[in-house]
Amino acid sequence: MYRTHTCGELRLSNAGQTVTLAGWVQRTRDLGGMTFVDLRDRYGITQLTFNADSDATLRETARSLGREFVVHVTGIVTERQSKNANMPTGEVEIFCSELKVLNGAKTPPFTIEDETDGGDELRMKYRYLDLRRNPARKSLELRHRMAMEVRNYLSAQNFLEVETPVLIKSTPEGARDFVVPSRMNQGEFYALPQSPQTFKQLLMVAGIDRYFQIVKCFRDEDLRADRQPEFTQIDCEMAFVEREDILRAFEGMAKHLFKSILGKDFSGPFLRMSYDEAMRDYGCDKPDLRFGMKFVDLSDLAQGKGFKVFDDAELVVGINAEGCANWSRKQTDALIDYVKRPQVGATGIVYLKWTEEGLKSTVDKFYSADQLQQWAARFNMKQGDLLCIMAGEANRTRKALNELRLHLGDALGLRDPGTFKPLWVVDFPLLEKDGSSGRWHAMHHPFTSPLPEHAHLLESDPGAVKANAYDLVINGTEIGGGSIRIHDRAMQEAMFRVLGFTDEDARYKFGFLLDAFEYGAPPHGGAAFGFDRWVSLFGGRTDIRDFIAFPKNNAGRDVMIDAPSRIDEDQLKELGIGVMHRAP
Ligand code: ASP
Repeated sequence: MYRTHTCGELRLSNAGQTVTLAGWVQRTRDLGGMTFVDLRDRYGITQLTFNADSDATLRETARSLGREFVVHVTGIVTERQSKNANMPTGEVEIFCSELKVLNGAKTPPFTIEDETDGGDELRMKYRYLDLRRNPARKSLELRHRMAMEVRNYLSAQNFLEVETPVLIKSTPEGARDFVVPSRMNQGEFYALPQSPQTFKQLLMVAGIDRYFQIVKCFRDEDLRADRQPEFTQIDCEMAFVEREDILRAFEGMAKHLFKSILGKDFSGPFLRMSYDEAMRDYGCDKPDLRFGMKFVDLSDLAQGKGFKVFDDAELVVGINAEGCANWSRKQTDALIDYVKRPQVGATGIVYLKWTEEGLKSTVDKFYSADQLQQWAARFNMKQGDLLCIMAGEANRTRKALNELRLHLGDALGLRDPGTFKPLWVVDFPLLEKDGSSGRWHAMHHPFTSPLPEHAHLLESDPGAVKANAYDLVINGTEIGGGSIRIHDRAMQEAMFRVLGFTDEDARYKFGFLLDAFEYGAPPHGGAAFGFDRWVSLFGGRTDIRDFIAFPKNNAGRDVMIDAPSRIDEDQLKELGIGVMHRAP
């Protein structure tokens, strides 16, 4: 028997028992006559002791143990002389009578400690060592607990978990597809699902009524801290529902997760905001509501007074950084540098501060004291506050002010990871126009239905149509989203036309769905939630890779197994594929 107990299990009440443990050597300490070994497994650390009473060869073996050796020991649980209150097993040690090295280990390339010295890339290359560290293991445990809670909750609500295929046809979710060549049908390709969107809709046509799946999705797009080429969604669909039914169902799931995982109660309904409101008041469709700093439009007050930057602008808009009036010149200049970075792309910030000396702005010569007083009144400004005002083309200015708002939120410590502000954003535009091609794109995906009252405008005035879609936003992160779907062939065909598909194209790509809509498709809708993101939100960190067992780096590589990689000529030949640029 390899072990009678785990390394996290033994307490004072076990004293006197003979036990067998197995695990990894965390460290050994040789103190003259005594040798201590910390033995670690997933459950904890237990101290092993060897002293002058121990057999000489046994002590020699104990002394020779290196970090991460795998060992197997038998001994008696003994009360410790100097107890360690920081360890659950800290009251006992094992006085060992047998010690066997099951496997040696090279010195690990970084320390297997909570605070390791290993950089990201090195830890990803040796991810199996990284996962031995507590924080990494705890992340996987959190992920597991959340997955279990999701499954239990949805199952109790009659949702069926149904698996859908991975080798499919393109599902347009706005990214590039990963494709897989078919050997048996040369020249043809499968696409990996960007989501199971069409399959879950077909499950509704099939009468499944309530579906969910914790499922891998694949999108070939540029990567960031909260994006991976393969990621996991909690994917859901319901039949015979309206938007309210869906929001209620998944608000229930979210509340259940908050309660069961974090012990947080949300009594009232989640806040709701229309897309237009979110853009107007926060300059983005996923506002972080942990703090205020709502946008205030100053255009009418600020324009027409001879200050050219404001006069030429489509929009003059600002936020109130409360309590920042005494920021130094260096600090306010740093904010200007921040918004001038190409990622933000603004030209500058106009300040109005209210100190003991009264209101003072960087544009005093264009505005009278009374006029500045009116600005202050519009912001409900108090002494001690600092207004940050930006101007320019409306959308760009809002976008830049959003960046500034978030930056200030960080700088002022207003974005506490332990506070959660969930929000439904609703009534998105159905379509957006691509600046360069002038073509319409689905803002969500092409299966999203218009709000019923806008449906008649779909072909005549596409830009005016709002979608029956919703996003769940928590703390400025889009955690999920979905929509009521089109379930009528004619409307789906009209949508494809607006998106620029020829009828033939639409039939080639989505004939299966259009056909299904002719065999009794029920009204349906659903949503999908980014599981990796949700776990990282609850884990209080922003990099989703910390919560994925084997993540890819920012270049989309798995540096542990070294993928992607070349394949043999023979394999290529079999697939009927020629490669133009071979990797070295
Ligand atoms: N398939 C969508 C997505 O992946 C979610 C949905 O509409 O249910 O974003």
